[in-house]
Amino acid sequence: MSAFLPSTAEGFICTMLSNVDPSNPALLENCQICYEEFNASHPAVWIRFTSECQHVFGHQCLVDWLTSDNTNANKNKCPLCRSPLYGKSKWDEDIEAQTRYIRSLSAADVGRDEIRAQSFILQDMLDRYREAGERQVLELRQHRRRERRARRREREQDAHRRAPRAEQDEK
Ligand SMILES: [Zn+2]
Ligand SMILES: [Zn+2]
Repeated sequence: MSAFLPSTAEGFICTMLSNVDPSNPALLENCQICYEEFNASHPAVWIRFTSECQHVFGHQCLVDWLTSDNTNANKNKCPLCRSPLYGKSKWDEDIEAQTRYIRSLSAADVGRDEIRAQSFILQDMLDRYREAGERQVLELRQHRRRERRARRREREQDAHRRAPRAEQDEK
């Protein structure tokens, strides 16, 4: 865990990302969020200054991830390695609260059954948290794919509109 993490997504985006030189070998891989190659309209950024994660993503893809709504359990973590990148998500806080509650039950010497029941709830929260994170990566990927398809359709329609005129010009 890095000594310092920004508390917000905006803070992270401003201070912990660096642009990647197009000749950098790290760019041999495509963006691991949308699977597209990096280029001028999909520039790469490197997550720096955290000790655990050094991953490279498309800038906009990563920004969309980090600033997504609270249904994304892992919006404050790297989409690939889940290293924490800033602050805490609502999910982190819920899980910490439940962990503290279980600890307080142990200290208060309540029955084992109650502690076991509360531990099941915690395990269930952790499972849902992991599943939600995996689902969120897929959703973001689908979203990017839909955007790409829409852009391609626009380009094709553009080409169609231009094509007949080009034929007329040739006459
Ligand atoms: Zn990472
Ligand atoms: Zn991307």
